Amino acid sequence: LTSAACSSERTPENEGDTAAGSTEQAEGGGELIGIAMPTRSLERWNNDGTHLESLLKERGYETSLQYADNEVDQQITQLQNMINQGADILVVASIDGTALGPVLEQAEAAGTTVIAYDRLINGSENVDYYATFDNYEVGQLQGEYIVEQLGLEDGEAGPFNLEPFAGSPDDNNAAFFFSGAWDVLSPYIESGQLVVPSGKAPATNDEWTSIGIQGWSSQTAQSEMENRLNSFYANDEVDVVLSPNDSLALGIEQALDAAGYTPGENWPIVTGQDADLANVKNMLEGMQSMTVWKDTRSLGDQVATMIDQITSGEEVEVNDTETYDNGVKVVPAYLLAPQVVTSDTVESALVESQFYTAEELGL
Ligand code: BGC
Repeated sequence: LTSAACSSERTPENEGDTAAGSTEQAEGGGELIGIAMPTRSLERWNNDGTHLESLLKERGYETSLQYADNEVDQQITQLQNMINQGADILVVASIDGTALGPVLEQAEAAGTTVIAYDRLINGSENVDYYATFDNYEVGQLQGEYIVEQLGLEDGEAGPFNLEPFAGSPDDNNAAFFFSGAWDVLSPYIESGQLVVPSGKAPATNDEWTSIGIQGWSSQTAQSEMENRLNSFYANDEVDVVLSPNDSLALGIEQALDAAGYTPGENWPIVTGQDADLANVKNMLEGMQSMTVWKDTRSLGDQVATMIDQITSGEEVEVNDTETYDNGVKVVPAYLLAPQVVTSDTVESALVESQFYTAEELGL
């Protein structure tokens, strides 16, 4: 690995692998980077993992990429193995943000630097950096989209029937997504322009877990939506569904479809996040109104930059040192900007940037 400029005692075990594709921008000197991802069942984490792994290999690092089936114990075992293998840096997209304290103490003892990836790790001193998209803004964008589409700002439009959903109670991000959206929407609940026939409207932001969908499961979201439609909409129609992400939106859309809602006629506004392929296709078919796109490639790029800075002893660039208090410390964070995509901007945002090809989307 001749182009690697960095200080490291480690020699790559398999030089062929790590050198493959390496370019003059290689910074790594074969340091081992453990990448712990929550699950393969969601498209975004597959993209996140593959992109980050190939970026790091190009730059001359060794990598160990593991997925944990959304099982907390499995993720802990994977992290222990990475530490035992001598990982210099761990990049962790946690399943349960509060469950990693003990294993991160082991990381600390082994001198391993820890970067929380996308999701904050709570209750631990041993989280060095956090790289994510502005999670509060994700929710704000969903809320603002709803306000704009329904024309609520005039103070008169409505009342519209809203059904709100929130993400997994063990995911720190879910609280931010909900707060961002609810800070925008709740004034319109107070004014009566939005009503929630199911009654599933948290009275305060802190009560969001009462409508949280464990594990971000599409299936659970679908059953929940079916229940609400069956119980509260016998003689009424839902106008808008606040869904925090695309996996929930998918289940919600299936429930709406099964209940006889028709795109272009009475299909409600449905929000989302991630620009998952199935959801982008649903947007093009009028079954989802928007998604908040977080280009996972930029997040990977940012994390690779952090890793270069850490391994070369430079100052690590962050742009937020106030927001992400994990209960023990405020974790220095680099926040990227999320972006709204609708059917009108699928082509300009997702195809032109080569996030998807036109063929994949059937365009
Ligand atoms: C991520 C979202 C994702 C969700 C479910 C969140 O922590 O930020 O992008 O949709 O987890 O995997």
